Amino acid sequence: MQLEPVNCALCGRAESDLVFSVPSLRLRTEPRSFELRRCRSCGLVRLSPRPVAEAMALLYQPQHYTAPRRDLVRRLEGLILRERVSYVRSHTRGHRILDVGCGTGSLLQALSMAGYDVHGLEPYQDALAGVPEGLRSRIQCRPFEAADYPADNFDIITLWHVLEHLARPVETLQSIRKFLKADGTLLLEVPNFASREARWLGRHWYNLDAPYHFWHFTPETLEAVVQRAGFQVVARTTSAVTRPVWLLNYLLLGATTAAEWWQARHPAWGKWPRASLGLGLSLCLGSRVLFAGSCPMMRLVCRKST
Ligand SMILES: [Zn+2]
Repeated sequence: MQLEPVNCALCGRAESDLVFSVPSLRLRTEPRSFELRRCRSCGLVRLSPRPVAEAMALLYQPQHYTAPRRDLVRRLEGLILRERVSYVRSHTRGHRILDVGCGTGSLLQALSMAGYDVHGLEPYQDALAGVPEGLRSRIQCRPFEAADYPADNFDIITLWHVLEHLARPVETLQSIRKFLKADGTLLLEVPNFASREARWLGRHWYNLDAPYHFWHFTPETLEAVVQRAGFQVVARTTSAVTRPVWLLNYLLLGATTAAEWWQARHPAWGKWPRASLGLGLSLCLGSRVLFAGSCPMMRLVCRKST
């Protein structure tokens, strides 16, 4: 796999310090670990060196999106989607919404059923294989920077766990900013690198997800990124107590990671072995108790700066 060193997405500087090496739980090929580096100038943590764009495109394979889901996982996902719809409803105005990085379109379906005029943007064709035809026509499949919408078109733009995957997060946010109405709302959620859990688990924190996550944001660096892209933050949520559904999100991610780790090492056990799913759930529940009050996720509600 070809790797390339990258500069900081926020300040453009190259100087950085090694935070630690992260094992890749999902890759079946070399390298098995990647370096996380903290920018000496602004503090943003990045994966560097990282796979070149062509290598990353290969890593987002069809099974990344279309892995079979157990009933329990589907039910958890349903709850998470419902909570996201409710969060959108309570933090935004208007009904015309663009979900950037919509993946398989599950949130778009949930928003559509809630009465929203939904639109999606997704760079990977494979993600759209199972999307119903009626919804498919509402999704542009192209790189985010090549999105083609009229200016001032949407009341709401959302990015759920997308920003950390982007090669150039500031530039991408800048490029989609023009599609948002002047009084529109940008909503985004990413893992919180400053959470107590992330600090305690260090290189083993599953939300590091090397090499898929290029950037690891703290509340401060995330705000700096959106501000640089021309937005102002009007609300920030980092407390787990106020969002109990994050526990479900957390369970799902932890169980998935544990299952993938197990499957990579014990292929004979097949997909979704019960043992590893159980292990993932127990670990997550256990650490949830240990890390109560510090949330591994954070959300920003933003408006365009004037
Ligand atoms: Zn920097």
